[in-house]
Amino acid sequence: MKVDIIGGGIIGLSSAYYLAKENISVTVFEKDKLYKKASFARSCGGLRCQFFTKENILMSRYSIDFIKNETSIAFNSNGYLMLFGEEQEEDFKYSTALQQELGATTKTLTPVELKAQYPWIFVDDIRNACYTSDGSEGWIDPYSLHNWFKDEAKKLGVKIDWMDGKLLTPKVHPYKEKYKCDKDYRITYSYDASIAVQIANKKLDNAGYAYTIAKGRKYFADSNFTYCEHKSDILHNNRMIAREVYLKAAKAYERDNRTEKDK
Ligand SMILES: Cc1cc2nc3c(=O)[nH]c(=O)nc-3n(C[C@H](O)[C@H](O)[C@H](O)COP(=O)(O)OP(=O)(O)OC[C@H]3O[C@@H](n4cnc5c(N)ncnc54)[C@H](O)[C@@H]3O)c2cc1C
Repeated sequence: MKVDIIGGGIIGLSSAYYLAKENISVTVFEKDKLYKKASFARSCGGLRCQFFTKENILMSRYSIDFIKNETSIAFNSNGYLMLFGEEQEEDFKYSTALQQELGATTKTLTPVELKAQYPWIFVDDIRNACYTSDGSEGWIDPYSLHNWFKDEAKKLGVKIDWMDGKLLTPKVHPYKEKYKCDKDYRITYSYDASIAVQIANKKLDNAGYAYTIAKGRKYFADSNFTYCEHKSDILHNNRMIAREVYLKAAKAYERDNRTEKDK
């Protein structure tokens, strides 16, 4: 299988790396060699497991372990502290319980405990706090991680096409004619490739998450998956993925959301 990824930011290149490890032939198309507007270049590089959804917690746990153990990137393990007011009591209880259930080492603090540990924090309007102190959260330099993925992806044979500064859309894709007959070709935007890789690697458990994403995307089922279902394997647009599970999710979405007109 061949996959083209549009966008060579951190998600595009990390997806390329994982896909190449599965012996998939990958080309990444990036319009800006200087990454002037790329968000990874602006990121603070913070890595934490203190999230509110299972998917984010599991993806973060995986990413932190990966960065620490499989890359040469320095991980500054200074931790994260999150503060909750009275109106966020439910969020606090729900998220910390979920984090702990999923193996994150989040600890909780009362305002009194918080003040004892960090005397300079004003705690009068704080109801709860949570933090980690075991080095499991912290920050990295996003540029270094981006470079690491770029170098490793290239070693695995990933090609990067800088597009001479042109914006890549399916219409100007250099191989657009080829896709019309090549059943073994996939094009995706980097975010979708990333989700697909997570699902394929079983970092996310099933199609449920892909389905959730599909639900949030107005054009997902209509413009791409309807097209691919009715016109066989012509997957020329911006939502293609590396594994059938995503396709199943889209079909489920289509089935559940079919309008009267569609029937
Ligand atoms: C101020 C700030 C702080 C942040 N802090 C954190 C943090 O502490 N921790 C954290 O985890 N996340 C943080 N984030 C979020 C994080 O930076 C993003 O989630 C991440 O960088 C997204 O990566 P990406 O590869 O999807 O996007 P980008 O890095 O934006 O890469 C997308 C690339 O696609 C290219 N591209 C787009 N369209 C096309 C096209 N049609 N053809 C060719 N190329 C195209 C762009 O040129 C760009 O290089 C922060 C973001 C910001 C802005």
